[in-house]
Amino acid sequence: MKKVFVAEKLDAEALELLESEKDLEIYRNKKSIGETLISEIGISDAIIVCTYTKITKEVIDKAKNLKLIVRAGVGLDNVDVKYAKEKGIEVRNTPKANFVSVAEHVFALSLSLLRNIPQADRYVRDDKGWDRKHFIGEELNGKVLGLVGIGLIGSHVAHIAQAFGMKVIAYDPFVSSSDMKKEGAEKKEDLLDIACESDIVSVHVPLFDSTHHLVGKDFLNSMKKTAIIVNTSRGPVINQDELIAVLEKNKIKGAALDVFDIEPPKDRRLLSLDDVILTPHLGAMTREADRRMCVHAAEEVIDFFKGQ
Ligand code: NAD
Repeated sequence: MKKVFVAEKLDAEALELLESEKDLEIYRNKKSIGETLISEIGISDAIIVCTYTKITKEVIDKAKNLKLIVRAGVGLDNVDVKYAKEKGIEVRNTPKANFVSVAEHVFALSLSLLRNIPQADRYVRDDKGWDRKHFIGEELNGKVLGLVGIGLIGSHVAHIAQAFGMKVIAYDPFVSSSDMKKEGAEKKEDLLDIACESDIVSVHVPLFDSTHHLVGKDFLNSMKKTAIIVNTSRGPVINQDELIAVLEKNKIKGAALDVFDIEPPKDRRLLSLDDVILTPHLGAMTREADRRMCVHAAEEVIDFFKGQ
């Protein structure tokens, strides 16, 4: 019997899935996050964590039987992956759980910005009149969407964009032009081509040293005056100061940001801009993604112990 410690709240379907496995014994953390961790981890063969449980060196040293850590979600910032691997503990996550939600959020943001939805909503609530010309928007149809990064999320954004009748171009040095073609995107070898040619730029690269400020001064100053930029990746991929500068000078039409240098964002210059839509890192925050994340985590545990 393998002991699986569920350290945070897990979707009921995922728990049922785990509990239906005869060879697994499931322990659920009924106290606050982290409180029972040290005592339970000593006897656990596997642990499922979400965002809040920190699997540090100290925790791993107490985990005498631990063979598997599953992070229900993508980011592994709360797990000392290197040390776990040194100790022979496998670390898995659920990268395919939320890409649909993030991709859909890109269009929620783009349409909100292009159709002035937040401003129009306030206008109606505040009984400001019925001057609809004030809110004349733009269609997505016929526009060029430029993707910076075309992995899981970027590819799904490309698919949805085609349904809107958009042309898709993409910059990603690690994806071949024939693979991009399969997603309906045209490969650009030069990042600045994305800036120059796009009506909507959408950023989908992970935050690495190599992608920090990938979208910087040159990029932002090469964008069309009528273009917008959407960021659902990580804040520091865009140089936020340079972005604020082009927005303040009306060098681009607007920005929709789900992620920031510091979250929540405190920069008054950014918060006071009109042509900007800000959401609090909501990309993956849907009921479907949440459920999928938990079910995928449960499936990883079952898959790991299969045949052991
Ligand atoms: P992915 O790994 O499938 O794709 C990332 C792509 O970026 C890859 O194709 C890779 O080749 C490309 N890339 C790497 N370095 C690059 C560079 N220097 N220039 C251009 N392309 C480069 O990841 P994904 O699932 O598509 O997710 C992308 C990012 O979205 C994640 O890393 C995460 O930061 C972010 N994300 C945000 C939310 C949210 O709630 N807003 C949720 C999930 C993920």
